[in-house]
This record gives sequence, C-alpha cells and structure tokens, in this order.
Amino acid sequence: MESTTWRWQLADGTASNDWDAWSRRLHAIAARRGLDLLRLGRIDGDPLLLIAPGPGSAARPRRLIASGFHGEEPAGPWGVLAFLENVSDELLGACALTLLPLVNVSGFRAGRRLNAYGENPNRGYLPGAEAASQEGLLLMEHAGLLTEAARDGLLSCHEDVLLEHCYLYANEHGEQPGAWAARLLATNAEFFPIHPDGEVDGCTVRGGIVFNHADTSFESWLFERGASHTACVETPGQADFMQRVAAQAAMMRAFLMG
Ligand SMILES: [Zn+2]
Repeated sequence: MESTTWRWQLADGTASNDWDAWSRRLHAIAARRGLDLLRLGRIDGDPLLLIAPGPGSAARPRRLIASGFHGEEPAGPWGVLAFLENVSDELLGACALTLLPLVNVSGFRAGRRLNAYGENPNRGYLPGAEAASQEGLLLMEHAGLLTEAARDGLLSCHEDVLLEHCYLYANEHGEQPGAWAARLLATNAEFFPIHPDGEVDGCTVRGGIVFNHADTSFESWLFERGASHTACVETPGQADFMQRVAAQAAMMRAFLMG
C-alpha cells in the first residue's frame, strides 16, 4: 500500500495531488483574508508552511489545525482551503488559530503515504521504534511554538483510504470522550456512516471513537506536551472526494466551537 499512488479529482477537474494548484489557492486566500503565512523551513526545496494567529488574539483560546501528514490523504489540505475560503470572520476570530495546512509536500505531490525518503511524517515524535521524518524533525525544532499553539486543542486531519466509514482518535484527560469529540464525530457522520464497533488499525473503536490511544504521532506528542485535548479525524478514502473535502472543512469549523 505504501508505494500505491492515490489520486482523485476536484469538482473543477483539478487532480488531488496538484500541489501547484493547491499552493496558488492557499496564497490567494491568505492574501484575501490577511492571514500571516510563514515558512517554518524547507525540505528539499518544498516549504513547510504555517499560518499564524491574527493580531490581537493572544487572550483567546489557542488551537492548532494540522493537515497533510500522509500524501494519500489529500482531503485534509484541500479541506483547509475550503475552510479558509468559507469560514466566517466571527468564527475565525473566536480563537487564536494556528494552521499547518500541508506537512508532507512530497507525499502529497506523489499521492503516496510516506515522504520522498520513505519516512512516515506522523511517527517518531516520541521515543519508539520509528525514527522521526524530515518533516517531523522540522516540526520538533518548533516544539515551543507548536505546544503553545495547541494549548487549547489540536485537530489533526487524516483519511483512511481503504475504508467507507468515518471515525476519529480522541485524547483528553477524562474517563470518556467529551462534548468536543462528540461534536467532531457528529460532523463527520453528517457525511459518512460511522465505523462499526470493533477494531481499526489495531485499536479498539467504540461509537466511532478510538479513545486515549498513545503512539509516537504528532497528536500524541502534543498531548504529552500539554495540549488540553487532541483529535485525529479520519474521512473514508472510498467515499466521494468532494464529500471528504467538505467533511474536513466542516470538522475544522466544529473544532473552533470548542
Ligand atoms: Zn494519516
């Protein structure tokens, strides 16, 4: 599966792995909304971009949305664009929002899960079997900034290419998933059927949620570093692509509601 190329089409015919088209739209919407688009660094010439919170937002809840860790899961990065193009000023301004719109550029372009080095950009943030990727090392160089950005929550946007059902991973300090996780799942479920109870990717899933699963992912890392709660949402790769993009954007809006 890791060497498979995955590609879908947007409504206007653009290929889901067309990074130039994605990038042009990102820069256009950033300019139109006055968003502060920063470059954390480059990996073989590809920029790893971050959208910083707007001025005057310091006292508001600090939330981070991260997308595009896996190249065969493009609905997240396209969902970021749909979200930024349509979200109201009021909702966007309700918190100090930081965005990592596309972490794994080489994987996105290739339509492949791993980066150009065959590394998994969502592993290796904590001690474990897998070493950190180039993208991971760059993100970890900005550990302080990202920890502060995710203090009041992290939403990490993924897809499960082989599935027709949706689900999510939720981490928080509590006995069971809170209202925020239920809201994210309900939003996902407006678009897709919920994964049946049982096992998914080696984890127990119940009511569409894998709860407090610890691994060496970006979300586990920021949860361990103090994020109040983290979610990794999964849209189904076997469903219609534009529905997946719409679901990702809708979950970003739901995440901003707390
Ligand atoms: Zn993923």
